[in-house]
Amino acid sequence: MSHLLNADLHSHSLVSDGTLTPEALARRARERGVELWALTDHDELAGQARAIEAARQEGLPYLTGTEISVSFAGQTVHIVGLGMDPDHPALVEGLRATRGGREVRARAMAADLQRVGIEGAFEGALRHVDNPELISRTHFARHLVETGVCSDTHEVFRRFLVEGKPGYVPHRWASLRDAVGWITGAGGVAVIAHPARYRFTANEEYALFSEFSQLGGQAVEVVTAAHSAPEAARYADFCREFGLAASRGSDFHCPQESRVDLGQLPDLPGELTPVWTLLESRIH
Ligand code: AMP
Ligand code: MN
Ligand code: MN
Ligand code: MN
Repeated sequence: MSHLLNADLHSHSLVSDGTLTPEALARRARERGVELWALTDHDELAGQARAIEAARQEGLPYLTGTEISVSFAGQTVHIVGLGMDPDHPALVEGLRATRGGREVRARAMAADLQRVGIEGAFEGALRHVDNPELISRTHFARHLVETGVCSDTHEVFRRFLVEGKPGYVPHRWASLRDAVGWITGAGGVAVIAHPARYRFTANEEYALFSEFSQLGGQAVEVVTAAHSAPEAARYADFCREFGLAASRGSDFHCPQESRVDLGQLPDLPGELTPVWTLLESRIH
């Protein structure tokens, strides 16, 4: 399969912090020309059966997916998994444990927002949540926009919910070893998501890529909404240096919030190994 395939291997439904159903996403992906799709809800596989069936009805080739929250060198890193067996017990249990602390964290976030005069944020965020096990910062962001505290979610993530700002609560997520192990153990391929989003030193970033490779991670998101062209070129170089395949995904969450729609991304640079060439036997 060519590197020019219109693959979109990173997207979210209302099973995590997206706003559309898996069925609406499958239709939107097909309408926008996606040729291979993956639904990658945060720390959750509950949408996979629906996505597989919806993609089948649309005639859209599909890979199972998730995006696991990981703590590494004091920051949160996201590891996308593609092509796993969504019923694999260690993966299912690992994700359940990773989701576990979210409600306590959300209550602490609301208490910190109360400190700056924002009342009732837990209940407000919860009104935007479809899956009670997956209350996220995005749901708080939607509440702060809805109540007029901020004009859009991008403003929320400048003024609130990030380190040093009201509503930020540090959290211990999965380890890199566990996340890569759950994905590969379930027959999938692990992918470092949007690497340009992290704020690592050069040494820390090198450590992330080398530990990830040593643990059996096989790919990096090179083309994604959060990357500029120079950033994509930089991580294409990382793929060559570490012998990793390259992935492509919009990280689409919501028509009103996401800057890049499903399937509307630059092509993967040539000469890289597209991650989908490692996953041909896993395509539904
Ligand atoms: P959580 O898993 O609860 O920490 O929430 C993380 C989610 O918040 C991400 O997956 C994004 O959807 C959203 N998010 C984080 N940072 C930003 C940002 N700077 N701009 C927009 N959305 C963000
Ligand atoms: Mn998200
Ligand atoms: Mn992410
Ligand atoms: Mn994402």
